[in-house]
Amino acid sequence: TELGQEQIDDDKIDDGATGGLLGGLTIDTTADIEVPDRLVDQVIGQDRARDIVLKAAKQRRHVMMIGSPGTGKSMLAKAMSQLLPREELQDILVYHNPDDGNEPKIRTVPAGKGEQIIDAHKEEARKHNQMRSFLMWILIVVVFGYALIRGQFLLGILAAGVIYFLFRYSSRGSDAMIPNLLVNNADKQTAPFEDATGAHAGALLGDVRHDPFQSGGMETPSHDRVEPGAIHKSNKGVLFVDEINTLDIRSQQKLMTAIQEGEFSITGQSDRSSGAMVQTEPVPTNFIMVAAGNLDAMENMHPALRNRIKGYGYEVYMDDTIEDTPEMRRKYTRFIAQEVQKDGRLPHFTRDAAKEVILEAQRRAGRKGHLTLELRTLGGLIRVAGDIARASDVDLTTRDHVLEAKGRSRSIEQQLADDYIEKRKDYDMTVARGDVGGRVNGLAVMGEDSGIVMPVMAEIAPSQGPGEVIATGNLQDIAKEAVQNVSAIIKKFSDEDITKKDIHIQYVQSYEGVEGDSASVTMAAAVISALEDIPVDQSVAMTGSLSVRGDVLPVGGVTHKIEAAAKSGLDTVIIPAANEQDVMIEDEYEEMVDIVPVSHISEVLDIALVGEPEKDSLVDRLKSITGQALDSGSTA
Ligand code: ADP
Repeated sequence: TELGQEQIDDDKIDDGATGGLLGGLTIDTTADIEVPDRLVDQVIGQDRARDIVLKAAKQRRHVMMIGSPGTGKSMLAKAMSQLLPREELQDILVYHNPDDGNEPKIRTVPAGKGEQIIDAHKEEARKHNQMRSFLMWILIVVVFGYALIRGQFLLGILAAGVIYFLFRYSSRGSDAMIPNLLVNNADKQTAPFEDATGAHAGALLGDVRHDPFQSGGMETPSHDRVEPGAIHKSNKGVLFVDEINTLDIRSQQKLMTAIQEGEFSITGQSDRSSGAMVQTEPVPTNFIMVAAGNLDAMENMHPALRNRIKGYGYEVYMDDTIEDTPEMRRKYTRFIAQEVQKDGRLPHFTRDAAKEVILEAQRRAGRKGHLTLELRTLGGLIRVAGDIARASDVDLTTRDHVLEAKGRSRSIEQQLADDYIEKRKDYDMTVARGDVGGRVNGLAVMGEDSGIVMPVMAEIAPSQGPGEVIATGNLQDIAKEAVQNVSAIIKKFSDEDITKKDIHIQYVQSYEGVEGDSASVTMAAAVISALEDIPVDQSVAMTGSLSVRGDVLPVGGVTHKIEAAAKSGLDTVIIPAANEQDVMIEDEYEEMVDIVPVSHISEVLDIALVGEPEKDSLVDRLKSITGQALDSGSTA
């Protein structure tokens, strides 16, 4: 089955124009999909990075890839190694140097020749040894025979023994002449790919082992103790280093030298080892460097190394999401087939199972009309689902398996949040019913993808001195900002002079690690409610950021927040209108909550406050004061 033009699949035209979740593929299971051979053709999305890898492979340029983990950086680096010419591969040999035992000689030969040379040397040594053995035995027989004839039996034994040991001892000399095959590319189908992520100096730059017997004929000759580093093994291929900034500065400097010179001597990395006395002739290091990391990595990496890559290569940013089109959905279906094939043991996926995976890719994108490109974790979901299917001894992975896997493959943060939400249920701090003054159900995100309900309480008290905003814990700054933002509005419509009052804000059961920057709408609502003494409907939850003019601005994680509100039994969720397109909640929650997009604080209060006359007059006043902001439509 080709992934090109396919007739539209009619069992599920759930999305008219897009031809269904599988983008119009008419397969029965993912087993019907052909997976391309070349890794570079398996890469999904990342068109920019792919083009650069193709170009850089041709021109032998270095590449720097910046982006989120699991978006295909190492996959692309590996794909690049498959694109490099195989004919250029070399074997590297290290020889004993008769002039200076501590400076072994280096020789480079075409791939495959190295083994032949070693074999030839071994054969020669074997013959040599045979010859010596033969000579030795002749000599022993002659000497011993002569002694016997002379009746000197004991002397004969002694002489024979001396001859034997002399030969054995000195035969080491010929073994020492066999070179050490440092890099062997004989069986390589493609150019080498070396992943040196987190490698210590020896693994990266090569090493010379310590020799406990440094003399007396028991020592291992120095050239036999030389070990290649990733920079040597990747000669003529690709050297991949992820999290480049975590490589220590000295190693980064040496890496740079290797890039500049195209060769790098191997020496013992540990100062106190006998290996440190040994330094080989320069060993070729003609690799293409693919450095990777997140934005942070780029800032912290050795500037000279970065310049080197920049000056002699390309920098590319990896995408986190890609537009959701029928073609992409077909590719994502192929991705499932790829991961199944790569694993080798997972059962293929049914249509419905594949659709569920694609739904998850939409959900994880966190952006309407997009699919997530964090494919390592999506691949994780595929593997967990497949494992569940395998454990239940069935031939195909079904939708149920995927659904179960979704529950299981939760990140540590998610599990923590679940645990936390579970515990909190015991105390039942989320009030989902009734009207309470100064108390608002806010929403926050824990970890990356777990929403929780976080009630905010505000209390107003007359102040002794100038009015202050007092907030709990690490939310102090955000609380102050939120109050500052609303104070302009409050000043205009309220008779209350907040400069003479203390405003206490408290997050009920606030939790370490919860980000609160999206809570300013919640705080403003709580403060206004407390100030004006108008109660808040506790079945309402809200999230949103606030401008000084009262505009409600977009925030992150709305989907997770809405789901959290639904789970806690709340009826209505107020979200910024600008976030409306990001909502991708699962079906089970859809009927549980009403989602109300708003663009101004007056709308928030209109929904959340209760008590007709007071509220209406407040909202009207707000509208009249900030009418300008409202007229200009949804500015958020
Ligand atoms: P990174 O190096 O960016 O952290 P990897 O390249 O190691 O990510 O990706 C891990 C795995 O996830 C890959 O082996 C592949 O199975 C899958 N994967 C990640 N990105 C892609 C992509 N763009 N296309 C296809 N598969 C991908």
